[in-house]
Amino acid sequence: MHFNHYSDEGAQLAAAVVNTRLDSPADIVALAAEHYLLLEHAPTDDDVAGLRRWRAALAGVVDAPTPEARIEALNRLLARGTAHPRISLHNGPPHVHFRPDDVPPERQFAAITAFGLAWFLTQRGLHRLARCAADDCTIAFADVTRNGRQRYCSPRCANRAAVRRHRARPSAP
Ligand SMILES: [Zn+2]
Ligand SMILES: [Zn+2]
Repeated sequence: MHFNHYSDEGAQLAAAVVNTRLDSPADIVALAAEHYLLLEHAPTDDDVAGLRRWRAALAGVVDAPTPEARIEALNRLLARGTAHPRISLHNGPPHVHFRPDDVPPERQFAAITAFGLAWFLTQRGLHRLARCAADDCTIAFADVTRNGRQRYCSPRCANRAAVRRHRARPSAP
């Protein structure tokens, strides 16, 4: 796991965890594969339970009502999810982890998403984590766009909202 995984990709993985049902170890395998996270161990039911608790903590950051509350929630995540940094040689060139070597998947997810979110949001802007602005959508996303003004989870939701705004306009006389 390389350092860049701890920034944009860590933040995007955090949003993906918030959006995932997490019913079985297979869900963890799929999530890791989608985000190029190499798991050191096969996930177990304990990882599912742990990652569900972690998902609630991540949702607390997404739904924090103020920047101050968001920072507090991030600091709680960091305290719970990361260990002192260490250089690992387990996979390719030496690189930094914010966890010990050889941990269960739940802890890999925790370290990456906690540090990734903290780094991403402090470097790119605290507002860059949100839920979709469409009325009927609650999907969380990390805004990695250049201008940082993403409001919808997807082009699909943005288009639906545009159509709705258009229809709501009073018709011309
Ligand atoms: Zn690694
Ligand atoms: Zn949406």
